[in-house]
Amino acid sequence: MHTLRSYLCDRWIEGSGTTQTLFNPATEEPLAKVCSEGLDLTAALEHARRKGGPALRALSFAERGALLKDAAKAIQAHRDALLNLAVENGGNTRSDAKFDVDGAIFTLQTYAELGASLGAAKFLVDGEGIQLGRSPRFHGQHLCVPRAGVAVHINAFNFPAWGFAEKAACALLAGMPVLSKPATSSAMAAHRVMEILVEGKILPDGVLSLLVGSSRELPALLESQDVLAFTGSGDTGMHIRSLPNVVRESVRVNVEADSLNAAVLGPDAEPGSEMYETFLKDVLRDMTQKAGQKCTAIRRVLAPDTVAATIRDDLVEGLKAVRVGNPALEDVRMGPLATNTQLADVREGVGKLAAEGMAAFGSAAPIATTGVDAGRGFFISPVLMEFPKDAPAEAVHAREVFGPVASLLRYSGKAVEAVSTIARGNGALVSSVYSEDAAFLEEIVAGIAPYHGRIFLGHPKIEMSPGPGTVLPQLVHGGPGRAGGGEELGGARGLALYMQRVALEGSRPVIQKLIGAQSD
Ligand code: NAP
Repeated sequence: MHTLRSYLCDRWIEGSGTTQTLFNPATEEPLAKVCSEGLDLTAALEHARRKGGPALRALSFAERGALLKDAAKAIQAHRDALLNLAVENGGNTRSDAKFDVDGAIFTLQTYAELGASLGAAKFLVDGEGIQLGRSPRFHGQHLCVPRAGVAVHINAFNFPAWGFAEKAACALLAGMPVLSKPATSSAMAAHRVMEILVEGKILPDGVLSLLVGSSRELPALLESQDVLAFTGSGDTGMHIRSLPNVVRESVRVNVEADSLNAAVLGPDAEPGSEMYETFLKDVLRDMTQKAGQKCTAIRRVLAPDTVAATIRDDLVEGLKAVRVGNPALEDVRMGPLATNTQLADVREGVGKLAAEGMAAFGSAAPIATTGVDAGRGFFISPVLMEFPKDAPAEAVHAREVFGPVASLLRYSGKAVEAVSTIARGNGALVSSVYSEDAAFLEEIVAGIAPYHGRIFLGHPKIEMSPGPGTVLPQLVHGGPGRAGGGEELGGARGLALYMQRVALEGSRPVIQKLIGAQSD
């Protein structure tokens, strides 16, 4: 079995000490080992700061964008191999794998185009200049410049390729070198992406590093000019945020954490209508795509009382058709969970939900699977929980069950009630609303907007709608409260995390000359 190496200080290096094993979660076959013990992370971070930072900051946005374009092309050229790795090590069906790998390529391409559009500049001019005195000579101008440290990216297990790319695209275009740490259990795809970029000599020295293995000391090594972008559980996010160096040095931290995303069917969407079918399709896709291991997956389904039973029956019919098994097989629709720990966690979560509601479909019990030896693999069936109208349903609004699990909740059909139910989730990445009733939409969007990073307005006329679960690089990704309070992507907005906003104050001609503007 081969050992995955880290890429630090521009060379491949293996840790020495206790190793961890990566598995195929469908067959439990061991695939690779990793070890991060004994690696000199202080030197690796310093190398990125001293070598990668200046190299990137010497480039214009267009030149940095060209690097991203080359990176996207190189990954595209190895797409099939990456899809196979995502199937093997991630438990992804081929369609799940495309979601991750193609998402990575598209995000890099989008930021490459943004770089081209920003042209020869090396920093961003933020807003209009401001006259500060009685005469126009006393002038102010905000700028955003790349921070002088290293961007450390700690990613979750569910999107090894996309998670790597979406964070790296923003940091590199902004002008910061990156040290990326994928989640250990599914690190093979991120590791292969790194190999592809190194083999292709795509990036200048020091600009990109990869750390594989469960290094826990990394965040404690960060300094005031560094940035830490973390995706994972709320508990780890809280731990990282409260590290003494992070607090003392004001290390900029972005946390993308848990989320109890909701989908609401409006009172106007009758069963059988196009809107109703769109809603059903989105809920079913979100429950089963990547076995529900998407931070944006629909967890809470809000159904008007009058049609709740019909929705339940239709969802149950849809779930019955989902074949669970070895994701390498074409007719399998849903693969396993990523790890045994994940399986235990989801089972425990289903137990918590079941204490207050009842299962309309599925359970936490072992299931029969296709194409896998009996008893092998980290499989669970999709689970749809149902709750009576007056049930307190505490766990539904407090516990993210990170698997193919959703809860059906009844509401009166009034927007105000849907808003207060959704707000019980205490902040989410995305919720979706399916309605054409203008008054309902206006009230619900205004009510839930403060609790979300994104609101998806489902509509049957949106061609090839990706549904609420797809994060597009043009729109912000993140959410308040439970979701971590972070913000990534969103086109040019995504660069802000990696830049320092500075106000220049002085003589207008001097400032205009400095920023390369035409004086008038
Ligand atoms: P996790 O245990 O918090 O791990 C996430 C990452 O943090 C992994 O790379 C992990 O490394 C690392 N890590 C864990 N403890 C650490 C520590 N003390 N110091 C430094 N790094 C540490 O989360 P998970 O269970 O793998 O991921 C699932 C969670 O991620 C779900 O709750 C999901 O909602 C959330 N998620 C959120 C988003 C979003 O965008 N909001 C996206 C995807 C997932 P190892 O793998 O080496 O342990």
